[in-house]
Amino acid sequence: GKNKSVESKICILGGPGVGKSALVVRFLTKRFIWEYDPTLDDESVVMEILDTAGQEWSIHREGHVRWADGFVLVYAINDRHSFEEVSSIKQCLDEVKKTNVQCVLVGNKIDLLHEVNVPTSEGERLASDWACAFFETSASDGGEDISELFHELHREIRRRKMIE
Ligand code: GDP
Ligand code: MG
Repeated sequence: GKNKSVESKICILGGPGVGKSALVVRFLTKRFIWEYDPTLDDESVVMEILDTAGQEWSIHREGHVRWADGFVLVYAINDRHSFEEVSSIKQCLDEVKKTNVQCVLVGNKIDLLHEVNVPTSEGERLASDWACAFFETSASDGGEDISELFHELHREIRRRKMIE
């Protein structure tokens, strides 16, 4: 059939050094340069992805939150503090948007299994509290899971836009 295009604006947030930029680069280089495929579920997809860094986040927080349709919240599985950080970021997002924001939770650096500080079960529990999808990824090993987390969020955004 004729493709309609669905646009999603995605903001990626998390503590410093958890791999936010690495994940975005992984996803974009895989999807849009070497394996360019602009359709998903028979619809053409336009994703705008905003990568953020610490300082900028605190200055532009409200603007980023209003701009975005959904959020990728990233912690590193070897960094317990980063896990606590995503909780406070999520709380802040909900306050600004005045609703349970659409997000996916990502435990990155799963290749560092010997350094694990945040077990899978804790990530799963937090995601279940937030009623969102949960992924464990490695931006250095890379895999389908990275594409899948962006696609899942895009699909959620599309679903909500169709209801509204
Ligand atoms: P950001 O501050 O969240 O954007 O983090 P970066 O993407 O800049 O990554 C911070 C550091 O962690 C860099 O040295 C990356 O190479 C490294 N890194 C990112 N993702 C992974 C991963 O999945 N596994 C490992 N072992 N290192 C990673
Ligand atoms: Mg970065």
